[in-house]
Amino acid sequence: MPAAQLIADIVVANHILFDQGVVDAFGHVSVRSDENKQHYFLARNMAPSLVEAGDVLEYDFDSNAINPGDRRGYLERFIHSEIYRMRPDVMSVVHSHSPAVIPFSVSRTTLQPVYHMAGFLRDVKKYDIRTASGQMTDMLIRNHDLGVSLAAALGSAPVALMRGHGITIVGTSIKEAVCRSVYAEMNARIQIQAMGLGTPVEYLSREEAELAEKANAGQFDRPWELWQKHAEEIRRGK
Ligand code: MN
Repeated sequence: MPAAQLIADIVVANHILFDQGVVDAFGHVSVRSDENKQHYFLARNMAPSLVEAGDVLEYDFDSNAINPGDRRGYLERFIHSEIYRMRPDVMSVVHSHSPAVIPFSVSRTTLQPVYHMAGFLRDVKKYDIRTASGQMTDMLIRNHDLGVSLAAALGSAPVALMRGHGITIVGTSIKEAVCRSVYAEMNARIQIQAMGLGTPVEYLSREEAELAEKANAGQFDRPWELWQKHAEEIRRGK
């Protein structure tokens, strides 16, 4: 896909993730370059809902921007570079502080699929920056080594839940990474509601989750189009 199309998708993805309550003023989404597989695109340091095409930077695998001008990058861009380096299958990365998932990052209750739209949550890795780095930090993935430790915790999974911070979700396309991020937030909310009913929750089995994930794999265009339209209507109304 040409760079201009990938950049246009990043703009839409940013607007969708804000409109769907996954990101607020913080959080970011990137996509791997098709022309140079060791480069990726990511907006400059700004609120996602305000991102336009001119705000998107191209980065190398050391998270250096190719042509930044006076545009400053996100502190946590190392999340993206180190996952792309370690995972050739990953084409897009979303990092957010998705509010409903945070309780699962700080408790022993596992975030897992309660419904079929979130089958990919059958494999959620937990990342604790304190044990990974061996020291007290400000919780941010602000350098290469921390990025490596997060990518290592993610391994081959689609999701890494970060204690006291947020979540990082990958996909084989930007649409998949965005849809997963929205449905992870929804599943977390629904799981908390189901647990509140006070009787044991019947989660999807591993096989059900895998089958549901396969069924959803070709369906990302539908929610993407809906959410894009809604996000644009809201933006036009401003
Ligand atoms: Mn963060």
